[in-house]
Amino acid sequence: MLADRMKNLTPYVPGEQPQDRKYIKLNTNENPFPPSPEISDHLKAYDLENLRLYSDPNSTKLCSIIAEKYGISKDQVITGNGSDEILSFCFYAFFDSNKGDLLFPEFSYSFYPVYCDFYQIQYRKIPLDNDYSINLNNYNENSCGVIFPNPNAPTGILISIEKIRDFLDSYPKNKVVVIDEAYIDFGGESCVSLINEYKNIVVTRTFSKSFSLAGLRLGFAMGDKDLISALYAVKDSFNSYPVDALAQNIGEIALKDSKYYDKITEKIVRIRDNFSSKLEESGWKVLPSSANFIFAEKKGMSGEEVYKSMKDNGILVRYFNINGLEKFVRITIGTEEEMDLFLNIDAEL
Ligand code: PMP
Repeated sequence: MLADRMKNLTPYVPGEQPQDRKYIKLNTNENPFPPSPEISDHLKAYDLENLRLYSDPNSTKLCSIIAEKYGISKDQVITGNGSDEILSFCFYAFFDSNKGDLLFPEFSYSFYPVYCDFYQIQYRKIPLDNDYSINLNNYNENSCGVIFPNPNAPTGILISIEKIRDFLDSYPKNKVVVIDEAYIDFGGESCVSLINEYKNIVVTRTFSKSFSLAGLRLGFAMGDKDLISALYAVKDSFNSYPVDALAQNIGEIALKDSKYYDKITEKIVRIRDNFSSKLEESGWKVLPSSANFIFAEKKGMSGEEVYKSMKDNGILVRYFNINGLEKFVRITIGTEEEMDLFLNIDAEL
């Protein structure tokens, strides 16, 4: 009954979203604070007549607002149904194994190998350095392109823009480098400032993390207009209207309320840094994070054991059954109260 290609399909497994009881969710890097209150005002006054018609297939107004915010032109922007969809368009549009393997970090976003299998792109995972950072000097071998998150997930470690610039100077200009900036607002400098200088980079972003809109499913990419136009061609070969009308409006409102979002982002960064110090004081090893999560190791316990103990106490974190990462858990930064509760439970383990 099924097409032959289904035999080789290994889908991505999203983090737990349990429906059985209420947990404190520190497992999927959602934002603990509500979206901008301006969005709630908008929804209360929303005219349903707007939903009778199809949405703008190209999110024109939203793209203009994004372009203005990042100092680029609107033909350098495309929106999609979450940055996952945008990433999928990138894999289809830019990476082609007959020009070499696609390179990405060994420990990184686990959707990348899934897209590779889906589009039949050969890939090579490049080991991290001993301190778990990405070393871009190792990405200069023959390849059809490069993709990495900055900061990386699940480690949270950031690469400086200077190092990225050095890498781009040495990398072939006819191959695309995708920089997945899902977590950049929590402490990194964006590479969007490089897109006019390096015509071969694409920067992807999401509304799921710093904008606290994971359920809205909205993401975007920025890059040279020829690369963005290729992404539009992929979109229009798959689904012309991936971003619904409400999502477009909400994205526009969110982008304009930077006062609110700066405030909650700063708060998350402060909570993260306090929480990391307290964990270190009690003997944990914590990797330096520039994201809204930390990657950490509790002495004497595996990641899975920490996960189980925390789950028994009503807190969800993420562990990885991956050779080399077994000792770690990834903990999303929640509210101050949630992180204090984590510390209290940890003290009893
Ligand atoms: N990139 C990275 C590195 C991520 O961790 C995630 C979230 N799982 C995404 C992209 C996708 O985010 P979204 O589809 O919610 O925009």
